[in-house]
Amino acid sequence: MKKNTLTIALAGNPNSGKTTVFNNLTGSNQHVGNYPGVTVEKKEGRLKYKGYDIKVIDLPGTYSLTAYSPDEIVARNVIIEEKPDLLVNVVDASNLNRNLYLTMQLKELEVPMIMVLNMADVAEQSGMIIDYHLLSTLLGMPALRMVGTRKEGIQELLDLLVGSIEGSIKKDVRRVGYPAVLEAEIQKLVEILPSEDGDIGGSGSVVAGPNGIKYPSRWVAIKLLENDSEVIKKADALSGSQKIMKQLELSQGIVKKALNHDSEMAIVEGRYAFIRGATREAVRIEKTDGVPVTEKVDKILLNRVFGLPIFLGIMWLLFQLTFTLGTPLMEIIEAGFMQLGSWADHQMAEGLLKSLLIDGIIGGVGGVVVFLPNIVLLFMGIAFLEGTGYMARAAFVMDNIMHRIGLHGKSFVPMLIGFGCSIPAIMATRTLENPKDRLVTMLVTPLMSCGAKLPVYTLLIGAFFAPQVAGNVLFSIYLIGISLALIMAKVFRTWLLPGESEPFVMELPSYKMPTLKAILLHMWERAWLYLRKAGTIILAASILIWTLLTFPMVDSQGHEYANAQLQLENSYAGRIGRVIEPVISPLGFDWKTGTALIAGVAAKEVVVSTLGTLYSIEDADALAEEEAGTVKTFAERAREQSGFTPFTAYILMLFTLIYVPCMAAIAVIKRETNGWKWPAFTIAYTCTLAWVICFVVYQGGKALGLGV
Ligand code: GDP
Ligand code: MG
Repeated sequence: MKKNTLTIALAGNPNSGKTTVFNNLTGSNQHVGNYPGVTVEKKEGRLKYKGYDIKVIDLPGTYSLTAYSPDEIVARNVIIEEKPDLLVNVVDASNLNRNLYLTMQLKELEVPMIMVLNMADVAEQSGMIIDYHLLSTLLGMPALRMVGTRKEGIQELLDLLVGSIEGSIKKDVRRVGYPAVLEAEIQKLVEILPSEDGDIGGSGSVVAGPNGIKYPSRWVAIKLLENDSEVIKKADALSGSQKIMKQLELSQGIVKKALNHDSEMAIVEGRYAFIRGATREAVRIEKTDGVPVTEKVDKILLNRVFGLPIFLGIMWLLFQLTFTLGTPLMEIIEAGFMQLGSWADHQMAEGLLKSLLIDGIIGGVGGVVVFLPNIVLLFMGIAFLEGTGYMARAAFVMDNIMHRIGLHGKSFVPMLIGFGCSIPAIMATRTLENPKDRLVTMLVTPLMSCGAKLPVYTLLIGAFFAPQVAGNVLFSIYLIGISLALIMAKVFRTWLLPGESEPFVMELPSYKMPTLKAILLHMWERAWLYLRKAGTIILAASILIWTLLTFPMVDSQGHEYANAQLQLENSYAGRIGRVIEPVISPLGFDWKTGTALIAGVAAKEVVVSTLGTLYSIEDADALAEEEAGTVKTFAERAREQSGFTPFTAYILMLFTLIYVPCMAAIAVIKRETNGWKWPAFTIAYTCTLAWVICFVVYQGGKALGLGV
């Protein structure tokens, strides 16, 4: 049987025009009293429209839904306990950012809801142009324009109310995406709350409260993290409350440590970041006087014309910094390793152990460790940009381009994380709700230049390019990485996983000066990770590579080779390298590069450590012949022994950028996609792409006579 009664509740900020809307709807058919138990005014009215009997409750006007005031508690309790069929959120459109704060909290209650943008006349007079349709899509609820005092929009509202009975309003799970740490803690709490399958909002489970009243699990988790006294009291009465409270304390600690302020603040800030993102897209403001600083800065940084050049300019500066500040520091560490090498050279007797130490470990691991300053500087820059709130803007700036390739700007966030490391970047794709968006983003993220590729670039740029152009060359590689990722995304979106991406909100946190402590902490973390990797994976790989390069030491007749060059070529690694040489020689690479590239599948830094060991073995031989002189730097050896020109060195950088993600990244793709299909696809397409691009560039360059 069709339902022909409907209960709606009006919620909104004080002075948003709720009473005006209420009066417009109910006429004189009103009843005023108090809510049971509290002296908060309760106003109810009725109306009939198109044969439906509609009951309207005017909730107390509030700015928020905390437990700090009786009005706010009443408002949320009525919504949760009496469960109106529909919530009508009356919003003062001329004061959108502040009013939407309540909207975000109402949405967390997971009740079907529509939004009335009242005071549209005032908003329009002040120069605001609101895209109602887009705003409605972004917030995931019907929204309509209204001027309550002139009864404009009342008719549409009535039709929407009836439409909701007839089921034309679909529930939408769109919601505030809090920072990843916070989301993880919300999830942990949701998982331990005693819950059943949701019958409200359709977006998940509910918690059965003390009186059999059902609360959305996510809402309870958020309120707990907000330290909401009422919800904490109710949670205390639940079964397993001890476990919940213990988790809560843990979670609050984690959030505080990661975000530098307590979880209550982090949640407030998260809602505002969402609102800022939504209004930035759906509202244009003609006049700017009286606009807060963040919005003013955004007007420049997010400008349609200048936004992209500004983003590129900032990245360019970052790479200049990585080189100009990094190189002198790198030279200090390098000098240290050279001292260590020549000390070992004098102290130790000739033999395998000496070669292992000098060529394998100092040449290999040392060759990677010297780039620590560049890595740390790059991450310092990224941590700074993230801390100021700019990184979220970068994604916003890219939104336009991303739409054109069938993705949403939000996909750019994981790609930016990919500058650091593909593994967290691939995991960050979880924030993308559309599965195709997510998969495409995951497939192209490895094309971004991660931190492990930086040592390869730094070595080759340092050895083959003048210091004045070093930063530019590095910037160009990063730019090619981004461009290729975008092009491949477009390709995949067109042929492999076609479909539209839905618009949704990108949170724009407010600008702030990151604390020195936070940046130092991040740098330290990165430095530690890098050194740990050098001491484990890279050390192990270096020893293995050294072994494969050193043996066998004699030819099949048992004779020693005439020189190191011959011995290397006939070593196990040399044989492997020569097997693949025909495949890579059209790209201008010899077997040594091939060996390094194969080894680099373990981790991209290993490309560098392998070259380091190779050159060191060769060089030791040359030095012994020439009478030991001064020890050479890695860059000098590369210049003398690699046979590269700036042109071929650049191609090697290109190849390193594009070809297979490292093993750890492949493992994460497998885990996130539940199978071998997509990781296998990633390996296949990246290798093919790397080969084709390098082939075209090398053969093209050769035809043009480019330094070959
Ligand atoms: P409430 O506090 O949310 O119940 O807000 P009221 O309905 O009492 O409205 C507050 C004031 O705003 C009143 O003076 C209304 O006349 C005025 N008002 C309500 N809606 C509109 C509107 O759409 N445009 C304009 N210009 N004024 C409005
Ligand atoms: Mg009122």
